Amino acid sequence: MQRKGTLAVISGFSGVGKGTVVKKLLEKYPYALSISATTRAPREGEIDGVSYHFLTKEAFEKKIQDDDFFEWASYVGNYYGTPKSFVMDALAEGKDVILEIEAEGAFKVRKQVEDALLIYMLPPSMDELKRRLVGRGTESEDKIEKRLKKAAEEETFKAREYDFLIVNENIDACVEELHRIIQTRTGISPKHSKLLDDLK
Ligand code: 5GP
Repeated sequence: MQRKGTLAVISGFSGVGKGTVVKKLLEKYPYALSISATTRAPREGEIDGVSYHFLTKEAFEKKIQDDDFFEWASYVGNYYGTPKSFVMDALAEGKDVILEIEAEGAFKVRKQVEDALLIYMLPPSMDELKRRLVGRGTESEDKIEKRLKKAAEEETFKAREYDFLIVNENIDACVEELHRIIQTRTGISPKHSKLLDDLK
């Protein structure tokens, strides 16, 4: 594959605000966002082909068989997958591509694209995460508990395997940090640099 663009994979706790941060990142900078396919039902306000490509289980499984996915995974009882052609084409055109996917898929991506950047978004605290999830009001308490449990598992076992961790305390600051990491491929921000200089 001839590839000129950077592939950035963003994962994080459910409810951490990945969607909002990524949306703002795209409004501000010219990244190409991959739209995933999923078998889960659309939430209120979600549009087919914009939020996700909403597929039946059968249609999704057919695409797995046809090797149409760059990566796919099962998450809380549903399939999620990244359409292969969009990612390949955008990277070949020199675009920097964003995938907002969970950890299993992220590690599959790393196997295929060695220099993909794996970035994990953390909430400032567990209490804040629960507050955001309940506030979103899109899921039952039961689903929230299930998601929080899954989130805690992911943090414990998987976040440490990522290349970069970012904390979503302030949305705009998080957008800038994300952009900086993707463009510079380093965890050292100007703020860190200045501190290092001052410490000399
Ligand atoms: P949600 O149902 O909240 O939209 O997404 C649930 C999880 O699936 C999130 O962690 C999200 O990042 C992940 N996800 C969304 N699209 C994909 C995909 O194409 N592949 C994989 N592996 N995970 C995805």
